[in-house]
Amino acid sequence: MTFKELGIAEPILRAVETEGYASPTPIQEKAIPILLKGKDLLGVAQTGTGKTAAFGIPILHHLYNAKKRTALHNGQGGKRRIKALVVTPTRELAIQIGESLTVYGKHTGLRNTVIFGGVKQGKQVTALKNGIDVLIATPGRLLDLMNQGFISFRDLDYVVLDEADQMLDMGFIHDIKKIIAKLPPKRQSLFFSATMPKDIVDLSRKLLGDFERVTIKPEQATAEKVEQGVYFVSKRNKPKLLVHLIRERSKESILVFSRTKHGANKIVKKLAQADIRAAAIHGNKSQTARQKALGDFKDGKLNVLIATDIAARGIDVEELSLVINFDLPNVPETYVHRIGRTGRAHASGIALSFCDKDERPYLRDIEKLIKQTVPRMPEHQFVDENEESETTNRENAQKPKNPNTTRNRNRNRNRNRNRNGKSNYRGGQHKNRNRDRKGGESQKKD
Ligand code: AMP
Repeated sequence: MTFKELGIAEPILRAVETEGYASPTPIQEKAIPILLKGKDLLGVAQTGTGKTAAFGIPILHHLYNAKKRTALHNGQGGKRRIKALVVTPTRELAIQIGESLTVYGKHTGLRNTVIFGGVKQGKQVTALKNGIDVLIATPGRLLDLMNQGFISFRDLDYVVLDEADQMLDMGFIHDIKKIIAKLPPKRQSLFFSATMPKDIVDLSRKLLGDFERVTIKPEQATAEKVEQGVYFVSKRNKPKLLVHLIRERSKESILVFSRTKHGANKIVKKLAQADIRAAAIHGNKSQTARQKALGDFKDGKLNVLIATDIAARGIDVEELSLVINFDLPNVPETYVHRIGRTGRAHASGIALSFCDKDERPYLRDIEKLIKQTVPRMPEHQFVDENEESETTNRENAQKPKNPNTTRNRNRNRNRNRNRNGKSNYRGGQHKNRNRDRKGGESQKKD
């Protein structure tokens, strides 16, 4: 399947080609035809699957065709009015989506703007007043500017609610309900969430009409694209192991996850003591500091970024080859989100996790969710004496279910030795084969 076969308008096709997208990802292959038909969509998928293009391309396609028709009848002119709205939980994601839509729509003449909290509203208001076709917004600022009368949904035809589960986790449920209540009834609605607990299902029903569902299973991201490994290490020795791993890969872009903001700051300090420059991004950092750290990381000026889960949403760095889970998350889906930062779309990546003895149950939950054993990494040097026997016992007590683990371990060992700063890119053909075998499924509304 190619983008051309999907029947996308030529200017968008050209932009996608220039971007180097050879073929649609599974979610794009499933979602784009549904959206081109004008149906509502429930997408169960996470960031990293190519979700932005899956909704962005068809929306731009519709807007571009509508613009052409209007120009034919009425000529150009008149102020642009908001015709599509994307609501997403974090500033980073909003910016990321804005950048992607700008790329996909660069030959269409359509204009988008991004609005989010934590900064003065002046520039955002000016952009709105000048007129835009697509608005990308975080819920709080959106509601705020709506209440101030700067936003009208009179001409709105398309609405996307992105990362709905994350929005609920962040306490946006009331804002979201208020926003939904203000939407015009005649619209095409899209709802994306990585998980579908009951309150998310309820929320999706408020937004969607007659919809089709596309599910891209998390295993696709983990099992097929990201190579994983886990180190058993005590809490005390985690910083030492981290320093060691970073030094081994001094040229790579490494994203380190910390469960807490305080923990993220502590890691930055520990790394500084070892002369490793790193920056942390989390909710307590100012927007300017977050954007500077992210910018430096994307430009390759900073090799190591420490992030909490929420702040990391939307981080999209092309050369990101390694994710390290300094702490294992207690919610297994979060692990899938995290490792989805590497191995974006068709690229492959590596995710290494540190697991101390209190985190063993988290590891078990993760392995249950991804339906595979995370390969155990070889013994490392940062083991306390009394801990050593514990590690050995643990390994013996709980043999990985996967009979290939020893092989994996050796493979990992060799791989790590051979790695010298480049990510292991696996060609498109290989990926296509995987996709055919285990592709996302598209079902009729349930
Ligand atoms: P997303 O899930 O939208 O955040 O996309 C993840 C990454 O995949 C981004 O870096 C996109 O530029 C990239 N991407 C999206 N679609 C494709 C595609 N069809 N081929 C290659 N890369 C893609």
